[in-house]
Amino acid sequence: MAATIIDGKAFAARVRGQVAEHVARLKEVHGLTPGLAVVLVGEDPASQVYVRSKGKQTVEVGMASFEHKLPAETDQETLMALVEQLNSDPSVHGILVQLPLPDHLDEEAVLNAINPAKDVDGFHISNVGLLGTGQKAMVPCTPLGCLMMLREHHGSLSGMDAVVIGRSNIVGKPMAQLLLGDSCTVTIAHSRTKDLPEVVRRADIVVAAVGRPEMVPGDWIKPGASVIDVGINRVPAPEKGDGKTRLVGDCQFDSCAEIAGAITPVPGGVGPMTIACLLANTLTATCRAAGLPEPE
Ligand code: NDP
Repeated sequence: MAATIIDGKAFAARVRGQVAEHVARLKEVHGLTPGLAVVLVGEDPASQVYVRSKGKQTVEVGMASFEHKLPAETDQETLMALVEQLNSDPSVHGILVQLPLPDHLDEEAVLNAINPAKDVDGFHISNVGLLGTGQKAMVPCTPLGCLMMLREHHGSLSGMDAVVIGRSNIVGKPMAQLLLGDSCTVTIAHSRTKDLPEVVRRADIVVAAVGRPEMVPGDWIKPGASVIDVGINRVPAPEKGDGKTRLVGDCQFDSCAEIAGAITPVPGGVGPMTIACLLANTLTATCRAAGLPEPE
């Protein structure tokens, strides 16, 4: 195996450590405790795991965690009223509504009802616009985590060819904006892209955010490229026993690692960085709200 394995778990632990130090100073010097409110509607098992993990890590860095669990049949009005309540609560500096919402709820309306200054997921249309125009925004956590790992590995990304596979509002599009902001030449590929293998072969940086298990094989990868695997896919693992499953990314790890210069594993790559960035965003939102200097 040739590639450097980018250890997202260790990097995320470092980021959380820095956030925790900053939070301790905010408390000591300014009497200020950052607060993160997470809203979960319904009982989606994966969402429940994420929310539990977010709440635990929020408390571990010294922040206040407010969890709001609502039944699946919650109506739009009730959810909007909760968002309004959190918007006006001074102890809440960050608000995250766990996606996906049940089908009967208008996701866009809910996300756009969040005060953009508290929108730690960066999905509010104002933050999308700010990011798109290169202004100070709340940046979506998953792409931010990917960018941090790339910067850490390469230093400058200027002039590099980057291909982002996937064009979702949550990952693909903001990832492309961030890479453009760091002066990469960016291609966004999607399900209609012609000759995807050739497009990917041009890339010095490949970010795969598709949601298809092990779709990208090693022979699509340019030798020495950096591969950031955002995908989280649960697949059967009969080798572990009947009915058992395991997590894989959107890239075939072994074959890509033979060719790539660096690669993130799944699990242990992008996933842990996402939550660390959520905490970092909550800290940033707290500092901005209080008119204090922002953490680096
Ligand atoms: P979406 O389903 O919203 O988007 C998937 C994208 O992949 C779409 O743009 C789609 O194209 C594209 N696509 C689908 N099939 C192909 C194909 N055969 N070739 C090329 N492109 C294709 O997913 P998300 O962006 O929300 O998530 C992507 C993955 O990342 C998932 O596995 C998800 O679980 C994971 N994820 C991980 C996170 C983490 O913390 N690590 C956080 C968020 C997501 P089109 O637009 O044309 O349909």
